[in-house]
Amino acid sequence: MRLRNITGSREVIAASHYVVQEALQPDCPGTWKEIFGNDHPLHIEIGMGKGKFIHTMAKMHPEVNYVGIEKYSSVLLRAIQKMEQEELGNLKFLRMDAEDINKVFGPGEVDRIYLNFSDPWPKDRHAKRRLPSREFLARYDVVLKQEGKLEFKTDNRQLFDFAVAELEPAGWKAEIITYDLHGDSDLMEGNVMTEYEEKFSALGNPICKYVIYR
Ligand code: SAM
Repeated sequence: MRLRNITGSREVIAASHYVVQEALQPDCPGTWKEIFGNDHPLHIEIGMGKGKFIHTMAKMHPEVNYVGIEKYSSVLLRAIQKMEQEELGNLKFLRMDAEDINKVFGPGEVDRIYLNFSDPWPKDRHAKRRLPSREFLARYDVVLKQEGKLEFKTDNRQLFDFAVAELEPAGWKAEIITYDLHGDSDLMEGNVMTEYEEKFSALGNPICKYVIYR
């Protein structure tokens, strides 16, 4: 998702107290309890887009701290606008490329990672850029607690098959794999729809999901 460049979005982000501005400083990893002012579990969404999923999750689970990560200012701006309408103390944002995740979170600092409708990067030579690739799984392996889990949803069957095939070589195991999330009433319990999930399921696309651990 790349919205048109919105004039002033960088300035809004730089001034927003919902965005952790100092995150890429070398002393950020290990300080998330201080940033939130409590020791609640930390859940992050990588590539959150306009933030519907993470905003809803944060509202439903005030006992969890959430961080939404988005690469593009014009998209993050939408998530900030949502927070301006309904402020939540347990949700913060980061504008960054997920490649830098290990510069922001310390070893074992994160309890859960969400990837929702990640960009497919269909060309083979771009496989390393896919957020569920083994290269990214190795980064998540460092920041995620040993007993932590990662959840991934997509309607892109090719990307999902790739993601499933990456698990074994990367040393991860699947707790849940479904190729039709919306057809499974047990798995749908507590499911929060993302913007893309709403759009693609309305078109009749089945939604794939896995929950993985090491
Ligand atoms: N998660 C949302 C949803 O399900 O509605 C948005 C999905 S959209 C297809 C993917 C989003 O991930 C885009 O907003 C894109 O800018 C962001 N993104 C892609 N690669 C990223 C990266 N390496 N780091 C941070 N964000 C990224």
